[in-house]
Amino acid sequence: MGKYRIAVIPGDGIGPEVVDAAMKVLEAVQDVVKGLTLETVMVEAGLRCIPKYGTNLPEHSIQILKESHACLKGPVTTPEEPGSPRSAAVTIRRMFDLYANVRPCRSLPNVPCLKPNIDLVIVRENTEDLYSGIEFELAPGVAVALRVITWRACERIVRFAFKLAMKRRKQLAYVHKGNIMKVTDGIFKKAVREVAKEFPDVELWELRVDAAAMQLIKRPEAFDVLVTTNMFGDILSDEAAQLVGGLGFAAGANIGDDYGMFEPVHGSAPKYTGMNKVNPIATITASKMMLEWLGSRYRDEACLRASERIENAILEVLKEGRVRTYDFGGSSTTSEMGEAIARKVVELG
Ligand code: NAD
Repeated sequence: MGKYRIAVIPGDGIGPEVVDAAMKVLEAVQDVVKGLTLETVMVEAGLRCIPKYGTNLPEHSIQILKESHACLKGPVTTPEEPGSPRSAAVTIRRMFDLYANVRPCRSLPNVPCLKPNIDLVIVRENTEDLYSGIEFELAPGVAVALRVITWRACERIVRFAFKLAMKRRKQLAYVHKGNIMKVTDGIFKKAVREVAKEFPDVELWELRVDAAAMQLIKRPEAFDVLVTTNMFGDILSDEAAQLVGGLGFAAGANIGDDYGMFEPVHGSAPKYTGMNKVNPIATITASKMMLEWLGSRYRDEACLRASERIENAILEVLKEGRVRTYDFGGSSTTSEMGEAIARKVVELG
């Protein structure tokens, strides 16, 4: 196929800076990988839209997303006051039924890591759980949030994770709190046991979420793929990101049957806005994951080559250790890091 329309959301706070760095890398990779064309279309979303349109995801932005093959999204700021709009990221995940949130964590060269051999992927259910947004006050000072867990969502996320484990080291840790939430996590556990029958080669590891949080610190190298419900996955993936250098390196894919949105795990870090200081590697890695997904969805070798090239360029720049942002001990700027990786994409033979 070779030609893809990519919706790009610069987002709020540090979003435009990290997205700009990723765009430079995407431009570079199109120069050197023959047969790859990305038509990027900028999309307004996030806090900046609210005064203008009264919503953080206006209709014209939704239309562009619907007409694209994939979305590269910068972080957006979400107001926390009750009654304010739901996070634009959550709305997009719901609207396109992006049920699998995939967050890889790997030890990287010259980046402080808890252990040198961490290589795990967290697969987080992305559409339900406490993120259903069903929350109300029963009486003054007494509030309730509903944890929605369905067989359909559990079964499909578990199957996604088993398939991923089959492509990797064939181990799947499943994480729940079934001793306390016997009914909701009962459905999740049952889905794992049912789907496991189709994947007899995958070794299963059952963990309660508190034990999983502890094991991620104690022996993170023991994990391959970890699957869990939405909120546990959100928390564990930030913990796992910290094992391998922090949020500046952590990227996530939001994948459905027909669409994918790719983003850094971190938020809009408002205190660093406009300082050209933060690490763009998380967003550049998100763009690499986007190409990988496009490559396997459309069976397109050019996308796969481009994705591999970006990954190698990131590793090479880190190995050289000359360009480092503040979060791993350097003083290079966001744009210097983006330019160094873009140059390396071209240099790599
Ligand atoms: P945050 O991730 O924005 O920042 C927390 C801290 O992490 C920063 O102060 C900084 O020290 C560090 N950090 C984050 N990104 C970094 C980078 N690229 N390089 C180096 N260091 C980095 O979390 P927060 O302050 O809790 O949230 C700020 C806003 O972002 C909130 O409105 C929140 O709702 C939103 N948010 C959005 C998303 C999303 O769009 N998917 C995700 C998380 C948070």
